[in-house]
Amino acid sequence: VKKKGSKYEKQAQPVKQTAVLGAGIMGGGIAYQSASKGTPILMKDIKDDAIELGLKEARKLFAKQVERNKLTTEQMAEKLSNIRPTLSYGDFGNVDLVVEAVVENPKVKDAVLTEVEGVVGENTILTSNTSTISINRLAKNLKRPENFCGMHFFNPVHRMPLVEVIRGEKTSDAAVAATVAYARAMGKTPIVVNDCPGFLVNRVLFPYFGGFSLLVEQGADFQQVDKVMEKFGWPMGPAYLLDVVGMDTAVHANEVMAEGFPDRMARDGKTAIQVMYDNERLGQKNDKGFYAYE
Ligand code: NAD
Repeated sequence: VKKKGSKYEKQAQPVKQTAVLGAGIMGGGIAYQSASKGTPILMKDIKDDAIELGLKEARKLFAKQVERNKLTTEQMAEKLSNIRPTLSYGDFGNVDLVVEAVVENPKVKDAVLTEVEGVVGENTILTSNTSTISINRLAKNLKRPENFCGMHFFNPVHRMPLVEVIRGEKTSDAAVAATVAYARAMGKTPIVVNDCPGFLVNRVLFPYFGGFSLLVEQGADFQQVDKVMEKFGWPMGPAYLLDVVGMDTAVHANEVMAEGFPDRMARDGKTAIQVMYDNERLGQKNDKGFYAYE
């Protein structure tokens, strides 16, 4: 964990104008958080309705602040104007840092990162919000891999304080410094980690999910496990957290972890999480997971 004034931040180049690629759950959240803390951000997607959804979500979050008397309507309008929605790369020439947050598909990410590298300046920092794809793997197709690193936010972006800044083999100190500085400007706590499956947080979280899954497979009542973990002091238990994360995301991330760490993470047979996924109980995203939602 790098504290304020660390070697990284001393070298940070200013991050005044940013951009996010993808206006989905994460892209929309990143745009809101950046705008809310005063850093202008271009929000690019390929679909009009995705942009509309991203903006709607940001408006909703700002409106809540107005309701709670934390913002005036004028301040809300001003902050909202920090988000500039776009379907083109037209204004990317003066962007200092880009966060790629498009779908979790290596081919799509490769294409998008190559595209954006072609339109930004030589010193622009490119980052990816990928949860499971290796940063070194994504850096391979880039002309300036030294300007690239991971910037992994957690969902929901406006509530989760941690950001993993993932350093690839070729990432420069300057790129890490700018990304750390931007995370702090967004009011987040950045940690700098190396590139490996699961980075840091998921290397802790997924063995925990695996342990929970085994308990359920052996007959434990998931609601009881949740209650126990809440009493233990965690804000929510593993079943509820899996519903928030989504069974599809969890299954996919687990596959990546199992490939990276077969001795610890690979399992014979189906896990309870896989069974939930097979039965289309994805969690909050389709209103049914371990729990049922309205
Ligand atoms: P999402 O499906 O909600 O949003 C993806 C968006 O990308 C869509 O709006 C889509 O239209 C857009 N898009 C697709 N191709 C594009 C392109 N070429 N240019 C611009 N936009 C394009 O996905 P999400 O949940 O926001 O995830 C985005 C990224 O964040 C993924 O890499 C995911 O692994 C990562 N992530 C997700 C979570 C989570 O809990 N959802 C948490 C951390 C990280």
